[in-house]
Amino acid sequence: MASKKMLCSEWEPINPMEYKGIWVYVEVEGGHIHEASLQLLGEARRIADELDTYVGAVIIGYGIKELAREPIYYGADKVFVVDDPRLEKYYPNLYGDVVCKLAKKHKPEALLVGGTMRGRELAPYIANNLKTGITADLTSIEVDKETGDIILIRPPFGAWMLAHIKTRNRRPVMGSVRPNIFPTPERNEDRDGEVIEETIDEVLDPRMEYLEYTPIEKAEEIPIEKADIIVSGGKGLGSKEGFKLLEELAELLGGVIAGSRKAVDAGWIPHDRQVGQTGKTVKPNIYFAVGISGAAQHIFGIREAKRVVAINIDPDAPIFENADYGIVGDYKEIIPALIEVIKEMKMKKSGSAKN
Ligand SMILES: Cc1cc2nc3c(=O)[nH]c(=O)nc-3n(C[C@H](O)[C@H](O)[C@H](O)COP(=O)(O)OP(=O)(O)OC[C@H]3O[C@@H](n4cnc5c(N)ncnc54)[C@H](O)[C@@H]3O)c2cc1C
Repeated sequence: MASKKMLCSEWEPINPMEYKGIWVYVEVEGGHIHEASLQLLGEARRIADELDTYVGAVIIGYGIKELAREPIYYGADKVFVVDDPRLEKYYPNLYGDVVCKLAKKHKPEALLVGGTMRGRELAPYIANNLKTGITADLTSIEVDKETGDIILIRPPFGAWMLAHIKTRNRRPVMGSVRPNIFPTPERNEDRDGEVIEETIDEVLDPRMEYLEYTPIEKAEEIPIEKADIIVSGGKGLGSKEGFKLLEELAELLGGVIAGSRKAVDAGWIPHDRQVGQTGKTVKPNIYFAVGISGAAQHIFGIREAKRVVAINIDPDAPIFENADYGIVGDYKEIIPALIEVIKEMKMKKSGSAKN
């Protein structure tokens, strides 16, 4: 017999006052804590201080005990650790079940999850199992000074407005946050905190078969969110071929290539290189926007860039309003000219170094 789906209105009521602490799910992959989790710990610290509560970090996996103190150095007061051989491989429902079990036991007021590939899968699973709401891809967090409510803020579906979302009657308040929305706090080994080792006695059923794991990111490629120099292309490149020119420029400058959503949708560049609201937030020293019009959703992803150089054939393109330097013209003429100048400069430099 098919099980009857419960409506939200039929959920057991909870008492929000029993829930304390701002938790962060700390993602570990390949023996490293994901930068997005460290960024969330900094933000959790800020909110916890406003609410006079503690920051909790949940870190689960196998062979991860030696990382247990790391979240403390980035702002956590308590770290809940589950180090279990059954968690050696990542199964979303298995990891999700463990996080839910800890949340049911310790009742955090909020739970933040990095909007990484893994986090985007885990967060809704956890929210569904804890019967709470979730704000995906939030961009800032506020605390209502009068009520102490946590308000999660995000732009709704690309509009020029911000939605302020309160989860009134369910706990934890849950949100996922893309990498680089918040800065990474300074690591401070002098910070003190408590490591709490938890065990899972229940049978953990992955309910799926693990066939193979192929990391998508090539080891030698710098992810765009970590790059210092980005040469980014848009629909104005006209074809995939245009990216070859951008690649040449990026290589000369020691940077990487990225693109707008239209370039991704056209299949000219992979989705993990998309900059913007539904792509990644980047924070390079220099961002070249080539043949990119400057839509709000794209600008959202480059607001942390130190300098923006826009190259566009249309002098009225909105990208120029968000650029530090603008070049009006056809990229097919401008990029080769830039490449030539940089090559010449490099040759002169290596020549003078030899002399
Ligand atoms: C919910 C939602 C989320 C979105 N998320 C994202 C996102 O994450 N990232 C993102 O980028 N977009 C996103 N978009 C899409 C966004 O609204 C724009 O459609 C997109 O950014 C436009 O891409 P573009 O600038 O490459 O293309 P266009 O807007 O078509 O601009 C092309 C530009 O190239 C210029 N050009 C043409 N020929 C040349 C030439 N020869 N040399 C130089 N310049 C030339 C043109 O003047 C024009 O300014 C989202 C939209 C929605 C609704």
